[in-house]
Amino acid sequence: MNTLLKGKTALVTGASKGIGRGIAFQLAQHGANVAFTYLSSVEKGKALEAELSALGIKAKGYQSDASDFNAADKLITDVLADFGSLDIVVNNAGITRDGLLMRMTEENFNDVIRTNLNSVFNITKACQKPMLKQRSGSIINITSVVGVKGNAGQANYAASKAGIIGFTKSIALELGSRNIRCNAIAPGFIETEMTGVLPEETVKQWREAIPMKRGGTPDDIANSVVFLASDMSTYITGQVLHVNGGMLT
Ligand code: NAP
Repeated sequence: MNTLLKGKTALVTGASKGIGRGIAFQLAQHGANVAFTYLSSVEKGKALEAELSALGIKAKGYQSDASDFNAADKLITDVLADFGSLDIVVNNAGITRDGLLMRMTEENFNDVIRTNLNSVFNITKACQKPMLKQRSGSIINITSVVGVKGNAGQANYAASKAGIIGFTKSIALELGSRNIRCNAIAPGFIETEMTGVLPEETVKQWREAIPMKRGGTPDDIANSVVFLASDMSTYITGQVLHVNGGMLT
């Protein structure tokens, strides 16, 4: 096992599948102890906890709604009680409720903003206390190429992801002097359950439009998380790292 993150505690939201699951694995494989959350995938969460623990690190899954302010606060308290410290936070939980503006309901808009953007506020606000105390921390927010470019049919999602970028840059300015870094990663088209709902023809068109001619994998994102989580990036904050196979942004 690689020891790059040995002794550090990481929290990943929304790790029962897809990119979050890949991130949890990579952090564990680099020696971090890993706390993670899920919303409804209880069985997948339990299986992940067992798989991570088998790597010889401490791992624990929490069923916790990141969009709920009080639940996020309680989560951080629980993680600190269970792990003793919190060094790395990856705000990954996210959903889509796609549709053209004409058909997008208020509920579809609010659900996406709450889950994708309020969650980042909730978790970051709660984790800043212990990080301020220990005078270190790395917060990594998962935004999207869509938050930079926009996308027809995803006005709610694009707004939430663009909001994450503004939030990230502001927190970097607020907490930099305390040695707490805050960066964002903007994945391009990553093939997961989230994109699995798209028609095959759409997926083909996406792949064709990418200079590297393939969709990304959760590991492509997870490897960049490891870098931003580690002491290899101690002078990097307030940045958006684009991991997208060369898609124009
Ligand atoms: P995914 O496969 O649908 O997984 C989403 C994860 O988020 C699941 O573990 C889900 O848990 C969790 N989640 C959803 N709502 C939650 C909540 N309120 N509280 C806690 N956890 C919650 O999605 P993905 O493709 O891996 O995407 C992960 C992140 O990357 C998202 O922020 C997404 O916007 C971003 N991203 C994805 C792509 C892509 O192409 N896939 C591109 C750019 C950015 P349950 O299973 O329990 O519901």
